[in-house]
Amino acid sequence: MTNYPIGIDLGGTNLRLVAYSHAEGILDRVDLRTNLEGGPEAVVEDIRRSVFKLDATHSSRELVGIGMGTPGPLELPTGVLHGPPNLPGWDNFNLLSALRNALDRDVHLDSDANLAALAEFALGAGTTHVTESLFMFSIGTGVGGAIILSGKIHGGAHGMAGEAGHGSVWADGPLCTCGSRGCLELYASATAVRRMAEEAIATGRAPRLAAVKQRQGFVDSRSVCTLGLAGDPASLAIFDKVGEALGITLSTLVNTLDLPLYLIGGGLAQAWPLFAPRMFEELEMRSYVYRLVNRRLKNKITIARAGLGTDSGLLGAALLPYPAGSPLQIPAAAALIAD
Ligand SMILES: [Zn+2]
Repeated sequence: MTNYPIGIDLGGTNLRLVAYSHAEGILDRVDLRTNLEGGPEAVVEDIRRSVFKLDATHSSRELVGIGMGTPGPLELPTGVLHGPPNLPGWDNFNLLSALRNALDRDVHLDSDANLAALAEFALGAGTTHVTESLFMFSIGTGVGGAIILSGKIHGGAHGMAGEAGHGSVWADGPLCTCGSRGCLELYASATAVRRMAEEAIATGRAPRLAAVKQRQGFVDSRSVCTLGLAGDPASLAIFDKVGEALGITLSTLVNTLDLPLYLIGGGLAQAWPLFAPRMFEELEMRSYVYRLVNRRLKNKITIARAGLGTDSGLLGAALLPYPAGSPLQIPAAAALIAD
């Protein structure tokens, strides 16, 4: 009987599950809307039903573990959520014990950003660049950060390491939901791009962005990206700000961590050609560690796009039940992402 794990990705909008095999990749999927109105108990019940459904479908195999990713802040090892902005009403909910009770078996839990980084390490860019350690930003609605050290998630003492998305880039910047001001997330997220686009429209000097807003009633980060790629100056200026903010934070991370690889994933990574030039410019100027290693020493610090796309969190969740250092016997990443 072959073994398989189930990976679960809980988001503020979608709840996704996969049955996974190291040899065959993703075997099966369940995609649901996250029932936020029903509260945490209703979502845990959806998870229970979906896991039983997948297990019944794959009864010829043995379910060996369940891993799950959730938006943070998540306290580990307790598994308690602390006021997660993307899961309103879940403050102080012990997700880990609720899952273990509902499923009557062990569940491995970590933050969605950590699991995306674990998948990139084991199946994606970590294999291309052949490294044991990396830092990864997952940039979407917000900015998640994660550290992989010697093949393992470095969660810190309370499971909260990697939160560089809430480091201040500009001390007097706008207020952030975390309580601080001028966080990276306020300049380098899809939410930030939308806000900066609205600000540009309000100045009256962004006619093409204003036209998009008039046509569709709102301006989204995808439209700003499309206009930027078409050469619109106002949209290019927004992504220049994204690159500047990322470069400032990355220079601190490179100086602090001296890791060989830093990845940028998540939906906004698609705008890489628009923000990367300014990001590298800032990094070159601000990080002497980056300059020394890349120019004087015969070595390299790489900043690159993540490779796995939207399934990275799910794949990381499926890998989580396996003890660190266990032989994962992973074939080429491309084969694993097949539907
Ligand atoms: Zn913040």
